[in-house]
Amino acid sequence: MMGLIKGMGVTLKTMTKKKVTHKYPDEPIPMPDRFRGIQHLDPDQCIVCNQCARVCPTDCISLTGHKHPEKRGKVLDTFDINFEICILCDLCTEVCPTEAIVMTHQFELASYSRDDLYKNLEWLHQNNSGIRSENNVNARGVKKK
Ligand code: SF4
Ligand code: SF4
Repeated sequence: MMGLIKGMGVTLKTMTKKKVTHKYPDEPIPMPDRFRGIQHLDPDQCIVCNQCARVCPTDCISLTGHKHPEKRGKVLDTFDINFEICILCDLCTEVCPTEAIVMTHQFELASYSRDDLYKNLEWLHQNNSGIRSENNVNARGVKKK
């Protein structure tokens, strides 16, 4: 009997406390600003220096570019990340000299096909929600969308 009363006491106390559960996936979970989620790429800021691909510990970045026809520097043609093996370690964004690649709050990559885990330049460019506030400006200091 005492056990039942004790148990009911715990239940009643817990019922009045603030809920710690989330209605995920119906309601998105707010992530902390420095959360390391799937990358956003701004191709206009990329100088095709290849540093992100060279530092990547799992070798999952591949990119190509060509010489700019009119001025110094290169133009990015393709940029792919294989999320089968990306460990979201943040090294590629740390070395990027122009902040062309940054981490976001996006973490949902579940898929029925492994082929869907190869993300290209267009996909990475559109993946632009939840960029860390410190990275959410372009080279001209203008806020990204
Ligand atoms: S987060 Fe890490 S593993 Fe993923 S692409 Fe960047 S460097 Fe490679
Ligand atoms: S490190 Fe940055 S600028 Fe260099 S190739 Fe990678 S994304 Fe582009």
